[in-house]
This record gives sequence, structure tokens and C-alpha cells, in this order.
Amino acid sequence: MAGISLAALLAPERSVVVLEREAHPAMHATGRSAAFYAETYGGPGVQPLTTASRDLLFSPPPEFSEQPLVSDRGALHVARQGKEAFLDALSTDFDGTGVRIETLTAAETEAKAPLLRADWRRQSLWEPGCRDIDVAGLHAAYLRQARRAGAQILTEAELESASFLENWQIETRRGRVQADLLVNAGGAWADHVAAACGVSPIGLQPLRRTMVVADLDRPVADDWPLTVDAEGGFYYKPDAGRLWISPHDEVPAPAGDAQPEEIDIAVAVDRFESAADAHVARIERSWAGLRTFAPDRLPVYGFEAADNPFFWCAGQGGFGIQTAPAAADLCAALILGRPVPHGLNAGTYAARRFR
Ligand SMILES: Cc1cc2nc3c(=O)[nH]c(=O)nc-3n(C[C@H](O)[C@H](O)[C@H](O)COP(=O)(O)OP(=O)(O)OC[C@H]3O[C@@H](n4cnc5c(N)ncnc54)[C@H](O)[C@@H]3O)c2cc1C
Repeated sequence: MAGISLAALLAPERSVVVLEREAHPAMHATGRSAAFYAETYGGPGVQPLTTASRDLLFSPPPEFSEQPLVSDRGALHVARQGKEAFLDALSTDFDGTGVRIETLTAAETEAKAPLLRADWRRQSLWEPGCRDIDVAGLHAAYLRQARRAGAQILTEAELESASFLENWQIETRRGRVQADLLVNAGGAWADHVAAACGVSPIGLQPLRRTMVVADLDRPVADDWPLTVDAEGGFYYKPDAGRLWISPHDEVPAPAGDAQPEEIDIAVAVDRFESAADAHVARIERSWAGLRTFAPDRLPVYGFEAADNPFFWCAGQGGFGIQTAPAAADLCAALILGRPVPHGLNAGTYAARRFR
């Protein structure tokens, strides 16, 4: 998502080649997300990027996507009795940001989330702006836009090494590519890509997250909200009669093709069942993916140094889909030497904060 969205914006102005190691783009983090948009997700430092992405996601121009890219969901932040401080902290974090969060009573909480046990629904926070994102649709729209503007997408073209002489000499599995600028949108591999280009790693850490798709012992309504434990133990949301459940795991893992572990699947089921008056009857499938974070959990957008045409577009953590439009706008503006868009503070995300 990171690479292709930025390529789509740069291609009208520059000659762009996207190097993808796999045979198909989006087989790693982008193809494995939970597909939601929530302005609170990722914290107040990420929220300006999420909010600034809303226009494109909620009202895409027809030439970008004729299909809607989001659908109604809503998020309900809940806490077990005695853990209400987590709800207060969430509310305080977003005071004055313009993000709409409403406090719900026990009755209102029960109406929205009838599965929750009584000790989980004494109060809750309702985030009406949360949506499901059509991730494949968004990715396809950026791919179309990039190709239309002349970008070349090379698959099975792993960047193996690169060195800068008068320009970048990039050795790939499909031969040498030369470029004035190299953008590192390598997801979980971004630090490896940097090292292969002679640039010091930043300390990006991939963290594995598990998703379980479950049948319950009772019907699942499609209009249930994304229900998030404010303490960070789980979230779940309905999808086509089943429930997607995540144990909100963050297990450090090497960059690679992440697979779900039995223990994390069991934890997902256990945490869900401890909060809900329902049982998992069958696990239909599960998957895992890597969410890759910088040490301060904010994304990394910007040049390595003023005199180094190596540009970081990395560290998108658990918010790389919902922030993609604004992140691509920001990165394109920095690369093309244009004003920073959306009132964003580019310094917050600059790679130079780690140097
Ligand atoms: C379980 C889960 C749930 C999530 N839920 C959400 C959510 O609800 N909302 C949200 O906004 N975000 C969510 N995310 C986060 C989101 O998926 C990521 O932030 C986003 O997909 C990152 O995109 P990316 O392009 O940086 O990474 P990737 O999609 O991993 O792309 C990186 C690409 O770089 C390629 N690559 C690596 N090294 C090389 C090389 N040397 N040469 C060529 N190519 C290379 C890889 O093959 C890969 O295709 C979730 C993530 C997970 C795992």
C-alpha cells in the first residue's frame, strides 16, 4: 500500500519504477489487515494522517474509484469493570482533536454490543466515524492510477543491493535499475532494504498480529460495531455472518511470511469468550501479518539526509491502510518540493528524528 500509493502520486511528474519482490503485490501486511478505519487507532500522533485520509477514502473521485472504498461500521471501545481508566485515557488523548467520541451508558452499550458480558458494558466509548475499508479496492485504485500515469510495476524484482554514484545503481533480480531517488517502502523489510543501500537501519521492529475468523454458537449480526478492548486485549468485528477476532498480539518477529501460531489463536478465543456471552463454535480460518513500528511508534516519512536521495516511507505499524492517502500526499510533497499538505507537521514523521 505504501509503495503503490506514493508511486501513483509521483508518476505524473517523474519516471517511476516500483520494485516488488513477490509475484503479486500486497501479499504481505497490506493483504492481511483487519481493514478498518478508526481515527483513534495508533494514537494522537497518527490521527492527523488518518483524519486527513478521510476525504479520499469516504468520497473517492470517480476517476480514482467508481466503487465506495468504505462501509459503515462504528467502533465501540469497552473495558472490563474496574478498568474504566483505559476509557478515560482514550478520551483524554483525543480531547481537542475533533475526533468524535461519545460516552455511552450501560443500556446504550448493550444495544450496540449485545454479546458483551455485563461486567464489560457498564460504560463504553462510541466512535461513530469508524468504517470498514475495502483494502483490495483501495490498492487496486492506486495500482490503476499509477499504471495510467506511466509507472512500471516490476514483480519478482527484489532489490538486492544499491549504491549511489551519480545516481542510484540498483541491482535487482530482474537486472539493474538506475534512479535519481530511491524510496524505501519495504514494510517489515525496510531496515534490510536500507542496509542493502548502505543506509543505517532505524530500528524498525516487525510485530506479528493474528486474526481469527470464527463461527459462533449464535448468529452474528452484520451491523455490530468493531468492538475494541481499551486495555488492548482484543478486538472483534463481524464479517458476512462470522466474527473476525484478534488477540491484539504484538510478538516481535523477523521480517518474513508470518503465520499464525496456535497459542495466539487460543488466546484470541479465550479473550473473546471472557468478554462475551457466546462461544466460538468453529474456527473457519486464521492468518497473521507483520505490523512494523519505529521505536516511537510513529511512521517514518522523509529523506535520510538533505544530501542523500534515499527516502523513507516505512513504519506504518497497524495504521498503514487508513493513513495511506495522506501519507502518500505528504511523501509526494516532500519529494517534489511542494508545501506540506493537510496542515501536517512533517517533522513529527521525519527520518531525521532518529539521526
Ligand atoms: C493483522 C493486521 C491487521 C491490520 N489492521 C489494519 C487496519 O485495520 N487498518 C489499517 O490501516 N492498517 C492495518 N494494519 C496495518 C497495515 O496492514 C500495514 O500498515 C500496511 O499494510 C503496511 O503497508 P506496506 O506497504 O508498508 O507493507 P507491505 O504490504 O508489507 O509491503 C511491503 C512490500 O515490500 C516488498 N519488499 C520487501 N523487501 C523488498 C525488496 N528488497 N525488494 C523488493 N520488494 C521488497 C514486500 O514483498 C512487500 O510486498 C494491519 C496489519 C496486520 C498485520
